[in-house]
Amino acid sequence: MPCTALPRIVPRPEHNISRANISEHALKVLYRLRQENFQAHLVGGGVRDLLLGHEPKDFDIATDATPEQVRQVFRNCRLIGRRFRLAHVHFGRDIIEVATFRGSGEEGDDTDRRLENGMIVRDNSYGSIEEDALRRDFTINALYYDIADFSLIDYAGGLDDLRAGRVRFIGDPDQRYREDPVRMLRAVRFACKLGFNIESATEAPLFTLGHLLHDIPAARLFDELIKLLHSGYGLAVFEKLRHYGLFGHLFPATEACLTQQHQEFPLTFVSRGLANTDLRLQEGKPTTPAFLFAIILWEPVRLAYERLVADGVAEADAIHAASSAVCSDQQSLVAIPKRFSLPMREIWALQHRLAQREGKRPYRLITHPRFRAAYDFLVLRAEAGEADPELATWWTRFQDASSQERASMTESGGKRRRSRSRRRRRKPADTASEVPG
Ligand code: ATP
Ligand code: MG
Repeated sequence: MPCTALPRIVPRPEHNISRANISEHALKVLYRLRQENFQAHLVGGGVRDLLLGHEPKDFDIATDATPEQVRQVFRNCRLIGRRFRLAHVHFGRDIIEVATFRGSGEEGDDTDRRLENGMIVRDNSYGSIEEDALRRDFTINALYYDIADFSLIDYAGGLDDLRAGRVRFIGDPDQRYREDPVRMLRAVRFACKLGFNIESATEAPLFTLGHLLHDIPAARLFDELIKLLHSGYGLAVFEKLRHYGLFGHLFPATEACLTQQHQEFPLTFVSRGLANTDLRLQEGKPTTPAFLFAIILWEPVRLAYERLVADGVAEADAIHAASSAVCSDQQSLVAIPKRFSLPMREIWALQHRLAQREGKRPYRLITHPRFRAAYDFLVLRAEAGEADPELATWWTRFQDASSQERASMTESGGKRRRSRSRRRRRKPADTASEVPG
């Protein structure tokens, strides 16, 4: 297609987006809005991914109907978000996100768009499709598929960038990152997800504006980190975040360990752990963010634990105290919800119990709901050179062993009992209560 002045309108015969590849629910919403005489476009990742021949993760819709008007059209609709008001149209578990065209919000005082220190804290000022396109983040995310005539509309040069494999900001990158620093993480995400380059003006501020991430609510950063690290390309994201110095603003304790330590294993451990998670996700195997965060935060936990043990604290108490200290520092930056932080702490606590192989202990431990995750974690530690490979092999064998073999294994495990006396507090075996909340 020749390069023409923007907007560039590509009629249906000249592009590859077919309704056959758009979800039935998204099509329903598009047609229904159109029936009610509203404009209705597919936009964002749905259009981008279809043009690239990928299967979109979800379909986002943009319209000139206000959220309230959208609610009137669909009975199965809920309005969400204060900072950025959106309509969610529900079809069972499937949700189609419908956003009203945003405007620049510059004229008049009645606009519902608010900036604080250059950061957008509210963006509910509505406008035209063209304004909407220009306030989107990257050119490749600002392509519209019009349900009225199935044409494609490009207001920002996204088609050229898509073809060139380029992530490029719309407008002045510095200002636009300041408006919403999460866009720095989004730039990294799209570069890794699509295997694209980040255009130089879009890339430069990534090296210097990382501190702005501290202004973002910790819960929003958690959501964004899940998309970054738990989508099948976590290792590439981790390496890029470190390259730009962004990782240290998200996980300062881990970054300090990675840069200050001379040993290879902390970095090897995190890299292998992320690669492992990527592979499992690509193969459609179950994974949990609890395991992922357990990997990322392990090294600071392990060092704090070793310091406490050296100070004479009992091992079981030391792991709890070390976990609590690292988690509470981390929580103010990236809020890991309890449903993930509790199992994460269990994985850590079980590392200490995996070292105890005598008597009935291994039999109890193997029935623990978090045993498998803790064992996988131990294997990774051993592969990275931090834990004893013999211990990991022992557990691999123990799981498959006959009862006779197990008996002889736990006998020899008993011989390994440490001579140092330990203060033992009995706790109900194998319960989450081992880890304080
Ligand atoms: P994904 O495949 O992960 O869903 P996406 O591009 O669709 O990628 P969404 O988070 O679903 O990303 O957002 C939909 C669209 O909304 C984006 O493509 C972009 O146009 C716009 N958008 C989302 N977040 C921002 C932001 N922080 N700043 C500007 N525009 C944004
Ligand atoms: Mg999307």
